[in-house]
Amino acid sequence: MSSITLSKIVMYAASMLISTTGILFTLLNRRTDKQQNKLYLAMLVILDLNCMSEILAACNTIRAAVSPVAAMAVRFGHFSYFLLHSIVPSIFLFYVLYVCGANLSGKRKRYMLVTIPAFFIEAIVLLNPATKWMYYYDRNMVYHRSWGLMVIYVLSGLYIAMAIFMLLFSWKALNRKRRTALIYFFTVAILGIVVQLINYEIRTELISEAIGLLGVMIAIEIEDDRIDAGMGVYNRRAIKSDMHTYIVSGRSLSLVCVKITNTDMIKRATGTDNTEALSKLVAEYLRTLVPRYYIYSTNPGTFMITVMGTDEDKVTWLSETISERFEKPWKIGDNEIPLKVLVMAADVPGRIRSVSDALYMADSPVPQKLEKNILKGSDLDYLLRRAAVESAISRGLEQHNFEVFYQPTYRVSDNTLHGAEALIRLHDPELGNLFPDEFIPIAEQIGLIDDVDDYVFREVCEFIKSGIPALNLMESINVNLSVLQCMQPDFAEHVIEVAESFGIDKTMINFEITESIAASDYSALSRVVRILKRQGFRFSMDDYGTGYSNMQSIFRLDFDIIKIDKSILWSAEKGQMGQIVLDSSVRMIRQMRRKILVEGVETEHQLQMLRDLGVDYAQGYLYSKPISKRDFIALITNAKHVTS
Ligand code: C2E
Ligand code: CA
Ligand code: CA
Repeated sequence: MSSITLSKIVMYAASMLISTTGILFTLLNRRTDKQQNKLYLAMLVILDLNCMSEILAACNTIRAAVSPVAAMAVRFGHFSYFLLHSIVPSIFLFYVLYVCGANLSGKRKRYMLVTIPAFFIEAIVLLNPATKWMYYYDRNMVYHRSWGLMVIYVLSGLYIAMAIFMLLFSWKALNRKRRTALIYFFTVAILGIVVQLINYEIRTELISEAIGLLGVMIAIEIEDDRIDAGMGVYNRRAIKSDMHTYIVSGRSLSLVCVKITNTDMIKRATGTDNTEALSKLVAEYLRTLVPRYYIYSTNPGTFMITVMGTDEDKVTWLSETISERFEKPWKIGDNEIPLKVLVMAADVPGRIRSVSDALYMADSPVPQKLEKNILKGSDLDYLLRRAAVESAISRGLEQHNFEVFYQPTYRVSDNTLHGAEALIRLHDPELGNLFPDEFIPIAEQIGLIDDVDDYVFREVCEFIKSGIPALNLMESINVNLSVLQCMQPDFAEHVIEVAESFGIDKTMINFEITESIAASDYSALSRVVRILKRQGFRFSMDDYGTGYSNMQSIFRLDFDIIKIDKSILWSAEKGQMGQIVLDSSVRMIRQMRRKILVEGVETEHQLQMLRDLGVDYAQGYLYSKPISKRDFIALITNAKHVTS
């Protein structure tokens, strides 16, 4: 065997090793269920077979002139090589189409057209033994290329060009990793093909294609970073990148979000946190309904399913089937756990227009009052509203659309001004006036509450610095705090720093904390309260009696004032039971030597009730609604003129 033949065989064997490695890894990892995986595997198998054909031909070339058997082997090797290898470019084009997220199912006819050149190529190969258009052997069995081969190269080039075009077309839809991988494959493969085209003796085609495909495997086919290993479905990162691809390439689809709404009871029912185990069960169940590569696990207990195209019936069927399954309990060990589910179905790009819209559907808190557990169409308007409010908050911080309103508080005994509560408002150019009940929880969830509360705090500091509150004998101005914010590591230091930068009397600031959350982490919170109280700041417990009553927090946190919620006052007026709750609350708080403020005083009768009970302070519409700073200043200065 000549050294040239040997080097060719070594080259083919190396290529074979690479493509076989690719095949083994693909099969071992069972990456074979997606269309894209199948095409990838097909290309590797063809390359493998091609290597065998070429080795067979190379081994027999020298003896082909003298041995009919060797001649047959050479002919067979070349023929089978061309027959299979010529369809690789068209398979590759379809592979690229799938990777780019193109919608192939709806446009069958158009894609049938694309396969015509491939059939033409196959026909040339099949006819070659008779026509010799592609290649032929001379009397010494030496191989010669002829014009037909060039035609095949040109047509294959056409496929590659289409693939490149497709790639450029959906460039934005691809993430960086995919882009790099595909460019790499193109460069390596094209280089190898061109070298062999120029000099047939340098057989670089197969090895460069094999290396290129291996690169594609590393970057595209291996999806470890996209898969939730425990559940065997895609993860949050995958839905982000896939939604991006779908939205940029303008595909229509539906997103079905499956959310377990009672994960909190799992722990109670089973003693340990079985959310993960249950999620796995649910994932397994979902996989019986749709292929795994349409299922994403976005959060613990939340799944997203993509239904490609506009198949309303399928979406309805899927939503109903899932919802029905949840009517039966889920079994973990010996426990039968009843899970509650909310299924939301939204179409892309109709209702869901961006990746963040999609994630929002998965992340958003479940609406409070739910009559049904399948939401679709206009049921999901709350998601849109919520997204709009989210933008309004960010916009508000940038464009200074927030305003602090003040609502005065009075001493019940003699109706003199005691202080005020700072209450934030948002005037949005698009949504109009927004109230904190709506936007504060959203600001908390998107992590902007610090900025909002900080804004209020600075405004209040500035107001105090103006001297007007002190001049009007106000004791303090109340600032609402989100407990999320006071748990921040250097919250206390920050507050002290701001107050000192304004040079104000710290006793003029009274922070309100809602008791419901105050119970969540005492040690951190009590530390903050202690530090700040030592500096002179005051504290109030807000919304006392709203259902989360926790006596501990009154004991352990050193509040100056307890604010009894308006609901307690209002029910005291309505019936005897309510009256008892109010009476005993007041008595108990007084025994704890805390001052009492009652909110929501709207009538003289209510005020009289509080006076009889000996409540210290009152706040409510009877005196004033929350009003702008200007109106507030007018109110308190006029009042002073009247009284003095
Ligand atoms: P809150 O702290 O309990 O505030 C009292 C709420 O009751 C205010 O609603 C006030 O307008 C309303 N109110 C006062 N007197 C009466 C009355 O006589 N009748 C009736 N029907 N309502 C009365 P608002 O301003 O909409 O604030 C709602 C909630 O938003 C507040 O409840 C507070 O939890 C939160 N919030 C307001 N401003 C801020 C802020 O700057 N930061 C934070 N973190 N939360 C805030
Ligand atoms: Ca408050
Ligand atoms: Ca309150």
